[in-house]
Amino acid sequence: MNLRGGSKYYLLHLGVLLFIVLVVVFFGYGLLSPRSQEMGEPEAVTSMFVEELNVQEVVTLSRMAYSQPKVLTPSRKDVLVLTPWLAPIIWEGTFNIDILNEQFKLRNTRIGLTVFAIKKYVLFLKLFLETAEQHFMVGHKVIYYVFTDRPADVPQVPLAAGRRLVVLTVRNYTRWQDVSMHRMEMISLFSERRFLHEVDYLVCADVDMKFSDHVGVEILSALFGTLHPGFYGSSREAFTYERRPKSQAYIPRDEGDFYYMGAFFGGSVVEVHHLTKACHEAMVEDQANGIEAVWHDESHLNKYLLYHKPTKVLSPEYMWDQQLLGWPSIMKKLRYVAVPKNHQEIRNK
Ligand code: UDP
Ligand code: MN
Repeated sequence: MNLRGGSKYYLLHLGVLLFIVLVVVFFGYGLLSPRSQEMGEPEAVTSMFVEELNVQEVVTLSRMAYSQPKVLTPSRKDVLVLTPWLAPIIWEGTFNIDILNEQFKLRNTRIGLTVFAIKKYVLFLKLFLETAEQHFMVGHKVIYYVFTDRPADVPQVPLAAGRRLVVLTVRNYTRWQDVSMHRMEMISLFSERRFLHEVDYLVCADVDMKFSDHVGVEILSALFGTLHPGFYGSSREAFTYERRPKSQAYIPRDEGDFYYMGAFFGGSVVEVHHLTKACHEAMVEDQANGIEAVWHDESHLNKYLLYHKPTKVLSPEYMWDQQLLGWPSIMKKLRYVAVPKNHQEIRNK
């Protein structure tokens, strides 16, 4: 027997044992200490922790028959389907909705759709809700959160099983820009107050729109934004980012990935809370400095998403205006589209 070798193995065993002890002590402490701290905390902190875990939980699928993904056959050759930070860009043809529905169903996913209908914009609610019933997250648990100053004018739209509507009465503002911007503040406030306890994901949408094709769980992810239909082919210098350094929304000309639309974004409640709070605080700061970003909340959303990269990006299928842009062949589906609105007639009213 080789004694040195033996003593070497002995030392090795001792080393491994010491390592295991250290690992157990280190991780045991790491795992236990935040939990024991949480014991004394209000329920919100615990549920935030649990909810974040739920979103990432892996599910076990049962047998399904579907066409095989082919490594040598790209799903789309005509458009970018992945960002440089490896977030999928969601286009028709890139996903199998049956697989996704199964995964999100198994997680019992609850989705909140926030929409603001302040002053005359309550007129848009009926079509918005009726078309959402046909196309938005069909088969999943949905809560419509309607923020309005005119609760009596919220239309009664029949809702499918597992779906309900909550009216949240809020104040209005004279300028439409202020109505639009204060959405960030309200979503942030209500995220803390109730969304965190009621839903897993939030989808934040403009009301002057309708759903005209499938919008489902393929959009859900920790943080998502939507490509503005007017800029998906443009270079970053042409994006209408805020260009004045005085504003918190400022983005220099040599930066920028995409131009995102303020009218459709979302993610897990925790992420949306973070985004809306940050954008609201940036707008408060701008106001104190006597500046308003060129495209209001949308400018701040773009700044936020530049430095907090979204985990999914929705193609302009999810934000289109047929009147302005027609129907180019790369758009296989038009899913969420602008409803014509008479600006004079409806704004600041
Ligand atoms: N909004 C509202 N009442 C108003 C102005 C705006 O409810 O008086 C809400 C509504 O949800 C609307 C969103 O803010 O969809 C953004 O405003 P708008 O759609 O007019 O902006 P645009 O899409 O034209 O930039
Ligand atoms: Mn709009």
